[in-house]
Amino acid sequence: MMNLAIPYHLENFIGGHFSGPLSGEFLDNVNPATGEVVGQIPNSNKKDIDAAVKAAEKAFPEWSITATEKRFAILNKIADLIDTHFEALAVAETNDNGKPLWLSKRMDIKRASDNFRFFATGIMHFAAESHAMEDKAINYTLRNPIGIVGCISPWNLPLYLFTWKIAPALAAGNCVIAKPSEVTPVTAFLLARICKEAGLPDGVLNIVHGDGPDCGEAIVKHHDIKAISFTGSTRAGERIASIAAPVFKKLSLELGGKNPAIIFADCDWEKMLQETVRSSFSNQGQICLCSSRILIEESIYEKFKTAFVEEVKKLTVGDPLLEASKQGAIVSKVHFDKVMHCIAIAKEEGGTILCGGNSIIVEGRCANGYFIAPTVIENLGPDCKTNMEEIFGPVVTLQSFNTAEEALHLANATHYGLAATIWTQDISKANLMAAKVQSGITWINCWLVRDLRTPFGGMKNSGVGREGGWEALRFFTEQKNVCIQF
Ligand code: NAD
Repeated sequence: MMNLAIPYHLENFIGGHFSGPLSGEFLDNVNPATGEVVGQIPNSNKKDIDAAVKAAEKAFPEWSITATEKRFAILNKIADLIDTHFEALAVAETNDNGKPLWLSKRMDIKRASDNFRFFATGIMHFAAESHAMEDKAINYTLRNPIGIVGCISPWNLPLYLFTWKIAPALAAGNCVIAKPSEVTPVTAFLLARICKEAGLPDGVLNIVHGDGPDCGEAIVKHHDIKAISFTGSTRAGERIASIAAPVFKKLSLELGGKNPAIIFADCDWEKMLQETVRSSFSNQGQICLCSSRILIEESIYEKFKTAFVEEVKKLTVGDPLLEASKQGAIVSKVHFDKVMHCIAIAKEEGGTILCGGNSIIVEGRCANGYFIAPTVIENLGPDCKTNMEEIFGPVVTLQSFNTAEEALHLANATHYGLAATIWTQDISKANLMAAKVQSGITWINCWLVRDLRTPFGGMKNSGVGREGGWEALRFFTEQKNVCIQF
C-alpha cells in the first residue's frame, strides 16, 4: 500500500526520486486555521530546476512517442489512485489551505481526479485537420508534443488547478516541470507519490517546491522549457510575460478577476439570492471566478440588500474540519493582512460596512487562525480602489443601476475580464448582455457550472489564452503544416 503520510520536510520529485533542495534551505509551511508551523518545504532555486530539466530531457524521447493508449492508461490510473486516497487528500488540502473539509471533498479533490480522467480520454480523441486544395494538393497538420513545459499554479484551488495544467501537458506527450504554490504544497507532494505508484515513467513529471521569485522564475527563464502555463496574480503574470516574451516562449496566463454579478429585477429571486451568496463567498471568496462586485437594479436594491445581508450573516465561520463551518480560514497571515487592509481602504473611501468588516477569533484549536467575517460594503462608486482592484477574499460591494446600458458600463469598468454572472428571466436581455460584457466566461442564471470541454480564461488583464478541452491540448502541442502536391 502506498504511503501517503506527510513528512515534516517535504521533498522535490525529480527524475522519479524524492530529494531535498540542493541549497539545503527550507520554508515554513503553516496551517492557516491554527497559525501553527506544521512542516517545511524545499526552498528550491535554479540548481534544482536545472536538475529537473535534465531528468525531463532524459525522459522526453520515450514519453513523446509512448502510445496514446498507454498514456491514457497511466493517467486513468492516477485518477483512480486520487479517488482511492480521496479522504487523505481532502484533509491535507484543508489543513494546508484553510478551506472547509466538505468543500475540499466536494470540489477540489473530486475535480483533481476528473482532470486526469478528462484529459486521458481527451487525448484518445484528439485529432488534427487536413485541408484539401481541390485537385492540386492536400495539407495536413501534425500536432507534436512541445518538449519540456513549465506549469505554475496558485494556492486557492491547489490540487485542482495543479492537475488542470499537468494532465493535458502529460496527455499530449510533454515532460513537465511543475511548481505548486509555496503556500499550499502538500497535495502536490502527495500527487508525486501517486504518479510514481501509477507507473508514470521517471522524469516525465518533476515537481519542484519553492517560492515565486527564485524557483518560479527559474522555470520561466530556463531556455529548454519551451512553454509556460501559469495561473496566479496579474502582477506575477506581467512579470512572467516580460521574461518569456523576448525569448518567444509559448504562454498561457490565467490571472486575476474583479467579477460582476448583474442582477435584474425580473430574476428568479430565490435562486439568485442563494447562488449570489455562494458566488460571493465560496472558498472565503478566494476563487478567481467569485463575484466581488454585485450590481443590482435600483428597483430591487433595498430588498436585495436586506435579504442578502441576512443570508450572509448566517454563514458560519469556523474550524474548517467541522461540517457546520460554511467558511474556513484565509490562506495565510500575509493574505489575511492584505484583505484586512483592503477593508480599511474601503472604509477610508467612504464605504459603509453592512456586515462583517472584522476578523474573527475561533475558539479552541483555531484560536490563532486567520479568519475574516464575510463582508458586504455599499456606497462606493465604480472608480474607487475597492471596486477596481482584486481583493480575493470574503469581501463584496453593492452598486445599483437603472438600465441595462448602465449595468454594462459598471460591469466593464475595471481592467479585469474573467467572469460575469447575469440574473434575469428575459433571455434576450441576458444574451445581449452576455455578448457585450467583457469577460471570458459568462454565467446566465447560474454560477460555476463547469463543463471541462469549454474554453476557460480571461480577457483584458485577466489573462492571455484559454485552458480546457481542445484548447489545452492545442496549447501543449506544436502545430506543423505539411503540404503534398498531387
Ligand atoms: P501569485 O501570482 O502570487 O502566485 C501564483 C504562483 O506563481 C505561485 O506558485 C507562485 O510561487 C508563483 N510565482 C509568483 N511570482 C512568480 C514569478 N515572478 N515567476 C514565476 N512564478 C511566480 O498568486 P496567488 O496569490 O498564489 O494566487 C491568487 C491569484 O491567482 C489571484 O490573483 C487569483 O485571481 C489568481 N487566480 C486566477 C485563476 C484563473 O483561472 N484566472 C485561477 C485561480 C487563481
